[in-house]
Amino acid sequence: MIRFALAGNPNCGKTTLFNALTGSTAHVGNWPGVTVDKREGVYKKLSEPAEIVDLPGIYSLSPYTPEEVISRNYILDEKPDCVINIVDATNLERNLYLTTQLMEIDVPLVVALNMMDAVKKSGDRLDAAKLEKALGVPVVEISALKNEGIQELMERAYAASKTPRAGSTVLAGSSIAHVIDDVKIALRGKEVENPLFHAVKLAEGDELEVAAHPDEMKMVGEFKTQHSDDIFGGDFEALVADARYKYISANFSGALVHSQKKERGALSKSDKADRVLTNRWAAIPIFVAILFFVFHLTFGEDLFYLNAIFGFGFDVETGNAYLDAFVAVFFNGAGISTPGAILFNLTDFIMNTCLGGWIADGMAATGAAAWAQGLVNDGIWGGVAGVMSFVPQVLVLFLFLSILEDSGYMARVAFILDRIFRRFGVSGRAFIPMIMGFGCSVPAVVNTRTLADDKERIMTTRVIPFFTCGAKAPILAAICGAIAAEYTGVSADLLVFALYLFGMIMAIVMLLFMRQTSMRGEVPPFIMELPAYHAPQFRSLMIHLWDKLKHYVKKACTIIVASSIVIWFLSHFAWDWSYLEDELMNRSILADIGNFLLWICTPMGFGLQLSEFGWVFVVAAVTGLIAKENVISTFYVLVAAIGAGVAGGVGDDGENGIGAVVTLMQQTGITWQGLIAFCVFNMLTVPCFAAAAVVKGETPKGKFKFTLAFWMLTSYVTSTCIYLMFSWPWTVAIVVVLIAAVIAFFILRNKGIIRFRRKRKELPAAKE
Ligand code: GDP
Ligand code: MG
Repeated sequence: MIRFALAGNPNCGKTTLFNALTGSTAHVGNWPGVTVDKREGVYKKLSEPAEIVDLPGIYSLSPYTPEEVISRNYILDEKPDCVINIVDATNLERNLYLTTQLMEIDVPLVVALNMMDAVKKSGDRLDAAKLEKALGVPVVEISALKNEGIQELMERAYAASKTPRAGSTVLAGSSIAHVIDDVKIALRGKEVENPLFHAVKLAEGDELEVAAHPDEMKMVGEFKTQHSDDIFGGDFEALVADARYKYISANFSGALVHSQKKERGALSKSDKADRVLTNRWAAIPIFVAILFFVFHLTFGEDLFYLNAIFGFGFDVETGNAYLDAFVAVFFNGAGISTPGAILFNLTDFIMNTCLGGWIADGMAATGAAAWAQGLVNDGIWGGVAGVMSFVPQVLVLFLFLSILEDSGYMARVAFILDRIFRRFGVSGRAFIPMIMGFGCSVPAVVNTRTLADDKERIMTTRVIPFFTCGAKAPILAAICGAIAAEYTGVSADLLVFALYLFGMIMAIVMLLFMRQTSMRGEVPPFIMELPAYHAPQFRSLMIHLWDKLKHYVKKACTIIVASSIVIWFLSHFAWDWSYLEDELMNRSILADIGNFLLWICTPMGFGLQLSEFGWVFVVAAVTGLIAKENVISTFYVLVAAIGAGVAGGVGDDGENGIGAVVTLMQQTGITWQGLIAFCVFNMLTVPCFAAAAVVKGETPKGKFKFTLAFWMLTSYVTSTCIYLMFSWPWTVAIVVVLIAAVIAFFILRNKGIIRFRRKRKELPAAKE
C-alpha cells in the first residue's frame, strides 16, 4: 500500500486533515501537542488505497523533543512514498521554516496550504502558484476544516509519489554552502541515504549526527576553525536558522499579500478579543470568571441566582409521586435549575427513582433471600447507579471545557500563565498538559512528552492530578451538594468551583516549591502560535463527549461493578463468613479493616473522632486508589445499610448521591470541615491506578517512588491544615507562620544569606 505522512507544526490542522481523510475521530485540540504518537488510517478515494500517518506536530527536525525525534525518524527510516507538509497559511513564514528542512530530505514532498478559509476571510491573498515556483514542490490550497481542496491535494501527492525527488536546500547561497556540499559528497561516497539532510544537520552540530558521522564532523570542525570570526562566532546552528528565515522572507513571503486593512494596522476580530482576554491585568480575573460561569451552569441549583435575587422558587404538587419527582427535575424550591442540575436530577430520577425502585420491587417479588436482594440492589446496582447518575452532569462540564479548548481560549490561558509564572521557573508549555488534566490525567501525562526539559516533565506529571479530573468531579459534586443541602446559604457551585481552583493553586504552589528545591533549573523557552479564535465545531465537541461517555460506561461495567461487589461482600460478611444484616455491618470484615486504619485519618477530620460508621471514609479513600469513581460507589453501597434504620435515609426508595452523603453526615457525625478535607485529600493524593501507572512509565527509572511520596505527603499535610484551619480558626495563625517561615527560608537562600555546603558527588560513568 502506498504511504503518505502528514508533517507540520503543532496546531496547523494535521489531525483535522487526518480525520477528514480517513473518517476517523482522533482528538483535535486547539493547542499544540495533542497528537503525541503517530497514528495511522487509510484514504480510499485514489486509484489505490493510501495509508495516512499523522505524525506529531514539530517546529523543526532537530532532536530536542521526543516528538521531533519520532517525526524525524519516521520520515528518514520508514521512507513514506510522499510527505505532505501541512502549512498553516495564516502563519506562513513560521511554518515554512519546517518546510525548508523537509525539502532537504530525498523524499517526494507536497505542501498543503491549510486554513485557506481563514486567510480568505481576513481579506489576505495568497498566490499558491508563485509559492510553488519558489519552493519547487507542489503547493495545494486546502481547508481541512471545511473539507476543501482535499481530493486535489491527494491527487497531487499521488502523482508526486511516483517520481523520486532529490533533496534541495535554501542554504545553497549561504556562507556555509561550501562545507555542506563537501560533507554531502563525502556522505554520498559512503552511500549514506539523504546525504544533503545529514550534511546540513552535521553543520548545525546536531547531536545525533555528530555521533553517527564523526569523520565528516571533522570536516565541519576544520571549516569552523577557519571561519570562527563570523558574525555568529562559529555558532552554525544559529547561522543556519538565520539563513533559513532570511531566505523565507526574501523568496517565499511575497506570495502572501496582506489585505489593505491589515496594512493600515487594523486589528482582526481575534486580535481585538485578545486585547481584552489576554490583557495583563484583566486576563486572570476573566479566566476565573469564565470558569465560575461554567461551574455555575454545571453544578448550580438556582439558575443565575434568580431565586436568591427575585424569589423565583416554587414547588409543584400534583399528588402523583412520580410526576412530582419529574417536575422537581426542572423546578424546585431553589428556583429554576441550571442545565447541569437538570441533567443530574433527570438521570437521578431515571436511575434511582425509576430503575432502582423497579429492580428493588422486582427482587422483592421473586422472594429471593435477603442477602441476594442486598447484593443486587446495593452491591451491583447501587454502586453503578451512584456513579452513573453524575455522568451527564460531568459531561456538561466537559462540553463547556471543550468549547473553551476548541475555540482557542485555553491556549491563551497557557500563554497568560506563562507570562506570570515564567519568572518563578514554570513555563506556559507545562500548563497545557495540566489543563488537559481536567479531562483525565492519563492523556495529560502522555502529553508531557512535548516538554523538552526533563525536570519540567517530572514536576508536571506530579501536579497533573491536582487538576481535578472527570472521575473526581462526582466526589466534589456529591459532597458539596450535601454540604449545601445541610447548611443554608452555601451554594454547591461555588464550593465545587473553589475546590477546583484550590487544586490548580496547589499545582502551581507545588511546582514553585519543587523549582526551589529538588528541581532547580532553567525554564525552557515557550513558543506557541495563538490560533485565531473560531467557533467550536459541533462534530468535534460531540466526539469529545462520546469518548468520555464510553470511557465512563466501560469503567462502570468493569472496575466499578467489581469493586462495588467486593465492597458489598466485605461489608456484609463477618470473618467467619456468616451473613450480616444491614444493622450489623459494624461487625463486618470491612469495618474491621477500616477501623484498623482509622487513626491515620484523625488529623484530617475523618478518623477516630467519627462515630461507629466512621470507617466508611477510609474505605472509600482506599477504593478510590483503584478508580476515583469508586469513592462515590463505595458510599452508595455502604450507605444503604447505614441509612436503613434512619427516617428519610437512603433505603431502597432511591435517594441520590447527594442524599447518600447527607445520610453519612447524620450517621457518622462528620463535620463539613472534615468533608472538605476529605475532598482535598482525594484530589491531591495518589491518583487512580491507571494514572499512577502512566506517570510511572513517563518518569525516569527509580524516580517514581519520590512521586508517590510527594502525593501522599502533599495530600496528608494539606488536608490536615484545611481541617484544622476550618475547625479551629485560631490554627490559621500557626499555619501562616509555618508557610511564612518556609517562604522566608527560600528567599534568604536565594539571596545567598543562608548557604549549604554541598557534598560533591562524582557522577557515575554513563551506562549503556
Ligand atoms: P494539529 O495539532 O496539527 O493536529 O491540529 P488540529 O487538527 O488539532 O487543529 C488545530 C486547530 O485548528 C483546531 O481548532 C482546528 O479546528 C483548526 N483548524 C484545522 N484546520 C483548519 C482549517 O482549515 N481552517 C480553520 N479555520 N481552522 C482549522
Ligand atoms: Mg494533532
